Amino acid sequence: MASLDRTARAFLLSELVAGFALTLKYMFKPKVTVNYPYEKGPLSPRFRGEHALRRYPNGEERCIACKLCEAICPAQAITIEAEPRDDGSRRTTRYDIDMTKCIYCGFCQEACPVDAIVEGPNFEFSTETREELMYNKEKLLANGDRWEPTIAANLHSDAPYR
Ligand code: SF4
Ligand code: SF4
Repeated sequence: MASLDRTARAFLLSELVAGFALTLKYMFKPKVTVNYPYEKGPLSPRFRGEHALRRYPNGEERCIACKLCEAICPAQAITIEAEPRDDGSRRTTRYDIDMTKCIYCGFCQEACPVDAIVEGPNFEFSTETREELMYNKEKLLANGDRWEPTIAANLHSDAPYR
């Protein structure tokens, strides 16, 4: 009986027809895929991507070299050196993040009292060498300058829930 059933299905091409019917059904439904990298899906304001150091609107660095982010980092990925400026303010002379150690936990961002170090929306920062993932202060500040409008909007939209 089973072999008769198999033979009948083979002659009638019923599986082929069922397959085509399924294709036809999904052809007219809304697409669930995106054409990356030309299209991208939505990101949460809390998305933890590439790190950035932010500035105030007047261009001054936000970071006050308190080293809370360095202390809390569970991966010990952050290295900070600091000294007072001529005007008495305290600023970093070195701010490095070893991105190969980072586990994107977001603790550095949570610890920062002045919203200086943040994990921004950028997730497209893969590299060909490990060295390129050793971020220094210039790189982090450049990230901040590049992504500031999005970072500020994300922090603003998340503020009521914190
Ligand atoms: S996200 Fe976590 S692991 Fe990465 S630098 Fe910040 S505190 Fe360290
Ligand atoms: S980034 Fe924030 S937590 Fe880290 S040293 Fe600067 S001010 Fe302190």
